[in-house]
Amino acid sequence: MTGSSSSKDQKFDESYIAEYIQSLERRVRDLEHEKRLVEGRYLKLDRELASLRAEFDRVRSPPLIAGTLLDVLDDGRAIVRSTTGPHFVVTASRFIKREDLKPGVRVALNQRTLSIVEVLPTKKDPLVLGMEIEEIPDVSYSDVGGLEEQIREIRETVELPLLKPDLFAKVGIDPPRGVLLYGASGTGKTLLARAVAHETKASFIRVIGSELVQKYIGEGARMVREMFELAREKAPSIVFIDELDAIGTRRMDASTSGDREVHRTLMQLLGEIDGFDPRGDVRILAATNRPDILDPALLRPGRFDRLIYFPLPKQKARLAIFKIHTRNMNLAKSVDLKALVRMTERATGADIKAICTEAGMFAIRDGREQVEQRDFEQAVGKVLPSLRISEVPEFSARSDKMYG
Ligand code: ATP
Repeated sequence: MTGSSSSKDQKFDESYIAEYIQSLERRVRDLEHEKRLVEGRYLKLDRELASLRAEFDRVRSPPLIAGTLLDVLDDGRAIVRSTTGPHFVVTASRFIKREDLKPGVRVALNQRTLSIVEVLPTKKDPLVLGMEIEEIPDVSYSDVGGLEEQIREIRETVELPLLKPDLFAKVGIDPPRGVLLYGASGTGKTLLARAVAHETKASFIRVIGSELVQKYIGEGARMVREMFELAREKAPSIVFIDELDAIGTRRMDASTSGDREVHRTLMQLLGEIDGFDPRGDVRILAATNRPDILDPALLRPGRFDRLIYFPLPKQKARLAIFKIHTRNMNLAKSVDLKALVRMTERATGADIKAICTEAGMFAIRDGREQVEQRDFEQAVGKVLPSLRISEVPEFSARSDKMYG
């Protein structure tokens, strides 16, 4: 009896122990699983912490100063010109490859020690420079309506010096260095500048003054320099500075850094104009609709010393412009351009172009292939009410006021 009960007890103990071991093994597996989960979470948090630390450092790190490397000394130090002006002798971080340190490259300097911490990419690409380049524009004088007098002046001042420079040498005079086109927006200034580039087979480089000083803060002066470099590379070429007033307003006290920036850009432009050969194969044109606020320094002889005025088109000119913009249109017999001319008092060339396009759109919307007089009339109603043109009056840079 006792023997059998003790063997029962023994079996019970064994099964109990086996079960206990199993439960322990399960527990170990669970704990191991948990450990892996925790380790995974730890790794994730660690990565997040590292990225937050990096972001924190980025936010906390002071801005770098941009500069241009002028020379590398024998002992490995470099001479740089910071964009704020002064020249410094500085060291370079050991992470920068020595061969990348070439005179002329742009570099970033640590603000406190001024050592070079980065070599910045160069921006020779005209798109990055914010310039527009047309190898040879595709518009000619025959696409310009009603500006006969302006075309004659442009031919004399821009075309002739490019095509027959020896003529000026023989007569013994210098052609005007810079030609300023002025008049209300949409009166054909850019159009005529492109047309003269076409007629002289010159590259057309256009830059917009306001973009030079707003979009590329701190870079305006460099952009002006590079624009002229590019113009010389692409010669014969025509440099066209649109919205000249944005860089060339009369100088007040350059009190804010923005004013100083505009001033630096203007000084660079004046320097470039003064330094270039008026008989060379780069011509400078500029446009503005605010000639009255221009810095007189720009209008001095030897700079923008020829001014060409672009008035709002009168009747005859409007007719010529209508003819140009309708010459490829399928017009119905009803179309009376003279009547349209009478309806478009104070419209610019750009408005007339918009009217023609709109008239075509009305015909398309109506399911017609021919454009009728009523389409034009509707288009005039659509385009002209939005007109609020303040005509730029003719102005003389040679008045005593400008030079007084
Ligand atoms: P902004 O001062 O705004 O630059 P702008 O005087 O340079 O103006 P353009 O860009 O030359 O004006 O004109 C815009 C468009 O209007 C031209 O591309 C052209 O289609 C049309 N246009 C303006 N004037 C004339 C014109 N005299 N003859 C034919 N088309 C014209």
